[in-house]
Amino acid sequence: MSNATLYPVPEEFARNALIDQDTYQRLYQASIDDPEQFWAEQAKRIDWMRPFKKVKQTSFDDHNVSIKWYLGGHLNVSANCLDRHLEQRSEQTAIIWEADEPGQARHITYRELHRDVCRFANALKHQGVAQGDVVTLYMPMIPEAAIAMLACSRIGAIHSVVFAGFSPEALAGRILDGRSNVVITADEGLRGGRSTPLKANVDEALTHADIKTVDKVIVVRHTGAEIPWHDHRDRDYAELMAEADDFCPPEPMDSEDPLFILYTSGSTGKPKGILHTTGGYLTYAALTHQYVFDYKDSEVFWCTADIGWITGHTYTIYGPLANGGTTVMFEGVPNYPDVTRMARVIDTHKINILYTAPTAIRAMMAMGDAAMAGADGSSLRLLGSVGEPINPEAWNWYYHTVGKGRCPIVDTWWQTETGATLMTPLPGATPLKPGSAACPFFGVQPALVDNEGNILQGAAEGNLVLLDSWPGQARSIFRDHERFVDTYFRTFKGTYFTGDGARRDEDGYYWITGRVDDVLNVSGHRMGTAEVESALVSHKDVAEAAVVGMPHDLKGQGIYVYVTLNDGIEASESLRQALRQWVRHEIGPIATPDVIQWAPGLPKTRSGKIMRRILRKIAVAEYDGLGDISTLADPGVVEHLINEHKSMT
Ligand code: ATP
Ligand code: MG
Repeated sequence: MSNATLYPVPEEFARNALIDQDTYQRLYQASIDDPEQFWAEQAKRIDWMRPFKKVKQTSFDDHNVSIKWYLGGHLNVSANCLDRHLEQRSEQTAIIWEADEPGQARHITYRELHRDVCRFANALKHQGVAQGDVVTLYMPMIPEAAIAMLACSRIGAIHSVVFAGFSPEALAGRILDGRSNVVITADEGLRGGRSTPLKANVDEALTHADIKTVDKVIVVRHTGAEIPWHDHRDRDYAELMAEADDFCPPEPMDSEDPLFILYTSGSTGKPKGILHTTGGYLTYAALTHQYVFDYKDSEVFWCTADIGWITGHTYTIYGPLANGGTTVMFEGVPNYPDVTRMARVIDTHKINILYTAPTAIRAMMAMGDAAMAGADGSSLRLLGSVGEPINPEAWNWYYHTVGKGRCPIVDTWWQTETGATLMTPLPGATPLKPGSAACPFFGVQPALVDNEGNILQGAAEGNLVLLDSWPGQARSIFRDHERFVDTYFRTFKGTYFTGDGARRDEDGYYWITGRVDDVLNVSGHRMGTAEVESALVSHKDVAEAAVVGMPHDLKGQGIYVYVTLNDGIEASESLRQALRQWVRHEIGPIATPDVIQWAPGLPKTRSGKIMRRILRKIAVAEYDGLGDISTLADPGVVEHLINEHKSMT
C-alpha cells in the first residue's frame, strides 16, 4: 500500500487553498518547537471574555494525569458560535435543515438561531437548570437539537447527547451515569420513513428504578404523534419558547469548565462518558474545521454524522458555527427514499464540502454507479471521510464517482477522546494516498511503539500513541478519572494510547490498520484487519467484509472472513474459492482466508462501525458470550449470522 498511487493536489484547488505544503511544514514545525506560542496565536480566533493566563499545563504521567489549556480564560461557546457573527452575517443561513422526506428543507439564519438559543436558554433556567447540571438530549436531527446544545453552553449546563437510535435501556444507563436532571426529547424521530417513539422511550427509560434525578422532560412536537403525557414532569418545548425572553446573557465560563460529556459508540465494551471542556475544545474544533476542510466564508458544509456522535458535535455544530459557516443538518439516511438521496441533497443545497463515513460510501458503491446517476455534483469542492479506515476501493469510488476526480479527500483519523481531527491530509498541502490518513495536524505528535513501549523510527508498524497534549483532548471520563488514566495512560507510560494500530511508510504517511484488539497474528505475522478487508472489498463482487482471527492449530491464528456481496450477486462455492485466490494474490499466501462466511449484513454500531468483537465470538461458536450488544444498529443481524454459522459446521 505504501507505493500506492499518489494523487497530487489538483492545481485549481491549490491556487485557492488556505494552506500549501510549505506553510503546513513551517506551521507544523512551529507548533512543535513552541506549543505555547503557537496555541496562544491560534486562540485569537476565539472571543475571550477574560484573557487566559497560561496556555498549557498538561501531564501524561500516570500518577498525575492532568490536562488543562488556556488556564484562567473566560469565554462562552454559544456567544462564539452566534453573538459575534450577528454584526456581519445576521441574515446568513447558519443551519440548513434537510428533513427525512425530500423537499421540506428549512433555512435558519444566525439572527433566528441566536434568538431561539436565547429563548431556550431562558426556558432551561426557568425549569431550574443551573450551571454544571447535566442535561440529557435524546433527539432526532432537527434544529431544536442544535438549539438545545447551544442553549446549554450559553448557561453553562453540560449536555450529554444520546443518539436517538439507542434503546430505552441504553438511554437509562447513560442518564444514570451522568446523574442528569433534565431530559430533552421529541415526540418521535423519523429516519428513512420510519418513526421511533422517542418520548415513550424516555418514559420507559425513566421507569428504571435507580434513576432518581430526572424531574423534567422537555418535549419537542415534531411529528405531532399522540404521546403519553405526565403533567408533573413533562413540558412542551413550544410553550416554554413562547413564554421565554428573546435575550439571555451568555455566562462567562472558565476555559476548563465542562462543555459536554459524550459516551463513545461502544465498539469495544461498556460506554465511557468522555468529558470535554470549553476553551481548548472550541479553539481546536474551529481551527481544524477551517484548515482540514479549507473552509471559506459562505461555503455550504455538510457533515452527515448524527449529533449523537463526536463528529456531529464538532463538525456539524461547533466547528462550522464558531467559524460563521453554513452547516447542514440531515434528519434522514443516505438510502431513503432511494440511493440517489445524497446526490439530491448535494445538488439542492449546492454543497461545497461533504464529510461522511466509509460505511455510507460502501453502501452507495454496492449499488454500482446508481448513487450518482443523473446528479450534477458540480458544487462539490472537497470530500471527507471519518469513522473507520477507508478501503482504497471505496476511496477510489468516492474520488472518481462522487468527486469526479476534482475534489481532494481528507481521510480524517480521530476519536471521541481527541475532540477533533488529529491526523489528516490538508487538502491544499498533501498529495493523497488512497486509504492513508497521511500526516499529523498542527501540534499533534504521533508515534508508533512496539508492545514494550519502545518508540519505532522511520517506516514501521506498531501501536499508535500521542506524545503530547493538544487543546481538544478529553480531560477525563465523567466522574471516573481513574478509569481515564487506566484506559489511556497506563499501557505505554508517558503517552496517550489510542487503542489503534498504524503503519508509517517511507514517505512518513500514516495508515491506520485498525484497533489493536483486532490485530491478527498468523504464523507469527501480525496483520491489521483493514488490510485484509480492503483486499476483499477490492473484488468486484464484494460490497463489504469483516475479518477476525480464530484459533488455529498450526498457525496460532487463522483468518475468518465475513463477506457481504454486491447487490444481485449470488453466493456460491466457486465464488468462495475465487475470493480465497484473490486475497492470496492481493496480499500473499499468509493472508489466505481459512473460512469465508456469507453475511447479508454485518453487526455494526449505531455509527456504522463493524463490531469485530461479536464476529470473533460467532466464529468460535461462543454464541452466549457476545457481551453488550445494546449499541448494535440491527441486533437481528447477529441471529442471522449465528444460524448461518451453525449451518456451516
Ligand atoms: P469505543 O471506543 O467505545 O469502542 P469507538 O472507538 O468506535 O468506540 P469513536 O471515538 O467514535 O468510538 O471512534 C474512534 C475510532 O474510530 C478510532 O479509534 C479508530 O479506530 C476509528 N477511526 C476513526 N476515524 C478513522 C479513520 N479516518 N481511519 C481509520 N480509523 C478511524
Ligand atoms: Mg474508541
